[in-house]
Amino acid sequence: MNIPELFAEDVFNDTVMRERLPKDIYKALKTTINEGKSLDISLANVIANAMKDWAVEKGATHYTHWFQPMTGITAEKHDSFIAPTDDGHVIMSFSGKMLIKGEADASSFPSGGLRATFEARGYTAWDPTSYAFIKNNTLCIPTAFCSYGGDALDKRTPLLRSMAALNRAAVRVLKILGSDATHVVPNVGAEQEYFLIDREMYSKRKDLIYTGRTLYGAKPPKTQELEDHYFGTIKTRVQAYMDDLNEQLWRLGVLAKTEHNEVAPAQHELAPIFSVANIATDHNQLTMELMKRTARRHKFKCLLGEKPFEYVNGSGKHINWSLSTNTGVNLLNPGKTPAENAQFLLFLTAVIKAVYLHQDLLRISVASAGNDHRLGCSEAPPAIISIFLGDELTSILDSIVKGETYHEAGRQYMRIGADVIPDFVKDTTDRNRTSPFAFTGNKFEFRSPGSKLSVAGPTTVINTIVADVLDSFADKLEGEKDINEAITSLIRETVKECSGIIFNGDGYSKDWEQEAARRKLVNYPSTPEALSHFADKKNVELFSRHRVYSENEMRSRVEILLDEYIKTIHIEARTMLDMANKDIFPAVTSCIRDYAESAKLASDCGAGAEYQTETVKTMSGRLGEMYMAYKALSELDESLDHYSDSQQAADFCRSVIIPAMEALRAPADELETLVGKKFWPYATYGELLFYV
Ligand code: ADP
Ligand code: MG
Repeated sequence: MNIPELFAEDVFNDTVMRERLPKDIYKALKTTINEGKSLDISLANVIANAMKDWAVEKGATHYTHWFQPMTGITAEKHDSFIAPTDDGHVIMSFSGKMLIKGEADASSFPSGGLRATFEARGYTAWDPTSYAFIKNNTLCIPTAFCSYGGDALDKRTPLLRSMAALNRAAVRVLKILGSDATHVVPNVGAEQEYFLIDREMYSKRKDLIYTGRTLYGAKPPKTQELEDHYFGTIKTRVQAYMDDLNEQLWRLGVLAKTEHNEVAPAQHELAPIFSVANIATDHNQLTMELMKRTARRHKFKCLLGEKPFEYVNGSGKHINWSLSTNTGVNLLNPGKTPAENAQFLLFLTAVIKAVYLHQDLLRISVASAGNDHRLGCSEAPPAIISIFLGDELTSILDSIVKGETYHEAGRQYMRIGADVIPDFVKDTTDRNRTSPFAFTGNKFEFRSPGSKLSVAGPTTVINTIVADVLDSFADKLEGEKDINEAITSLIRETVKECSGIIFNGDGYSKDWEQEAARRKLVNYPSTPEALSHFADKKNVELFSRHRVYSENEMRSRVEILLDEYIKTIHIEARTMLDMANKDIFPAVTSCIRDYAESAKLASDCGAGAEYQTETVKTMSGRLGEMYMAYKALSELDESLDHYSDSQQAADFCRSVIIPAMEALRAPADELETLVGKKFWPYATYGELLFYV
């Protein structure tokens, strides 16, 4: 396999565009891509035609506007290129109009009230900043998805808007610092965790099929306590899967780079090399899609849910985030000169302030039913947001606050607190894995997102909150005569104001929860609570100010997310009931009959039957408990239909249904340990996690 040759083979990227487009049109398109300038519609026909010729040569028969509705996955409706001719034949045709705008009868996509069903049509609009690509013989054109009123019905539109806001604000600040950068983009590297299990075993478990997570399952004799899976040798079968996946991703121009076993048995991770946020978002969506599709070929099932198994770690998606300029500077990279350091410290402080002021939004951006099982469970960061900076950087900031010169090993650091920031900052910062938002040398790593969440939502939040603070910095600094002094005091005041968000200790500890409460940090332990704060006044003002979300768009998102939460719990509850009724009760009763018969036969022979009778008694006891819990859950689940208000229904799920589900699971899990293997209806945790 020649990787450089195969890389991006199926992407209509810069190389292909340069080859196939007339020079002036290529240039115009490049300006649009690089500077966000809008594209002259008259050029679209030429671009469309070139795209079509290229795609058809590569065997494509269809095209689709590829978009990201608020379900969090991608959507596509395929149209073939064929157009009839007068003589009864067809030609392959694709016009600028078809490229730029599509109509999607999208009444089944969630809109949270933004689009009444009678005006069901939404439209999709080409995003020229993301490359088109070929997947399954279909030319996929990355598009935004909006209602006729112009409301964003997708995840891409707000992300692009937030990137524009961030660009405007960052360039303003850079101008004050004397930089000649004219464009700033957020970069994202999304580490993706996932589980691979045997497809045959998967296919017998309705909980995995319907909900993506196990709703029953006793603790196996071994879990992850030996820590022998993390970075362990990759199984041959898994390696073959990874090789296959990498090749497909490379063809699509995804920079798949790092792969390794994760902490939990059967858990793995894939990380690409970072790219511009909207591209990284597209690529992560493609990665998740291909992970699932490739698994089928290798007789695996890929689980992307946040918490498929109790007792072992869940899966996250770490969003590594930084800012870079069109002059090639990473603004979060500590520099070598005093000026670079002033710039670095200013941008670092802006992120600190943004996270401090908008902890709530970061928490809300990762809220989902699945992630509730993960956050704060000693395997993932707590629901409380804080920043890890490392001791070195924290003491540099401290010395700026105190107005002191920062001393380190006989060296002096002056001016903006630090003439030169020691190189080892990079090496000492990556240790703390319990922090939700960690500075890791030249980027921040947001570790709270769940594994199946789209990158778009959290990144939209980070971009917007940082843009807002940068704007306020620019307001303060513009027109200042002594810019060095102004920056130093701005950094000093900001760090003083926001130091409560910095926490370098163990985020998993109980003490931290109390300490965070003392610091008055936001703690929304569950999804319903988090979502109830999204459209708070502060947040509506913030997003409207930067034209990222209108108030309507925000309210619609709350509605959609609450609805998704309620449906998720509802499906889980019904799946548990179904499994109890169809699988577990019959298995347990058969086992009881078997043991009872054996006891009778034994006593007919005059032998003792202590084991059989004791076990029959215990099993019958648990079965009775399980049946009571079954009836209780069944009634509660029906009463969910009486709620018309989504927030109340979600609260009810959280406080009543989930505990009732746990009450049903407990006796069932105990029964699993008692009932003989030949009776138990599906694979146990041990079999699922430790397959060969
Ligand atoms: P770790 O597991 O130690 O956090 P990984 O190598 O698994 O490290 O992932 C780090 C991720 O961060 C990769 O996707 C990488 O490309 C990305 N990354 C590195 N530098 C930057 C940066 N400046 N901006 C954004 N992402 C970055
Ligand atoms: Mg990481």
